[in-house]
Amino acid sequence: MNAHKRLEIFQRLREVNPKPTTELEYATPFQLLIAVILSAQATDVGVNKATRKLYPLAGTAAAILTLGEEKLRDYISTIGLFNAKAKNVIATCRILVEEYAGEVPRTREALEALPGVGRKTANVVLNTAFGEPTIAVDTHIFRVANRTGLAPGKTVRAVEDKLDKLVPAEFKLDAHHWLILHGRYVCKARKPDCPQCVIRDLCEYKRKTVEAIDRR
Ligand code: SF4
Repeated sequence: MNAHKRLEIFQRLREVNPKPTTELEYATPFQLLIAVILSAQATDVGVNKATRKLYPLAGTAAAILTLGEEKLRDYISTIGLFNAKAKNVIATCRILVEEYAGEVPRTREALEALPGVGRKTANVVLNTAFGEPTIAVDTHIFRVANRTGLAPGKTVRAVEDKLDKLVPAEFKLDAHHWLILHGRYVCKARKPDCPQCVIRDLCEYKRKTVEAIDRR
């Protein structure tokens, strides 16, 4: 895909959603970090349901530590992999309290050293909590980048590196949200909604759908 098309794609995505953001609900960088840890292989809707009850009672690292692993499990038991996630969240809270006065560190190295935090989670926190132009490649972005020809790559990291190199600077901060939302609601895994897609004439996918999806 050439640079002109890439530019046009982001211009159009920005036009339909000038201020994109995460669908996870949070009030502080800490709450975003925990929500992202909980969201691995789970939906944002499911995570929000749990954190809406958890955060008013325990919305800081110290408060979750006080709550303890067993009670935390009760709050997040509707989320997949909740046992492992409860362990990781408690271990992460302990490090934050002991080493960072309860705050979330702002460097990739420090974030990735926290239990349950991989490169993608670190990228989301750096981008959404701290305004860094990182691009967290999840399953949606991986699919959209490959299908459209925007930044094809065999691995998540290859796609991230390509996007990092190719996305024009002015779109870098929001690129990850535009692409996630586009993948979640339009360029869906099983059947992309190509007739409704604002970038269909720019997309290089060979098997675009032609019939509008029945929305009833
Ligand atoms: S035209 Fe279809 S395949 Fe291409 S980005 Fe849009 S929804 Fe996805």
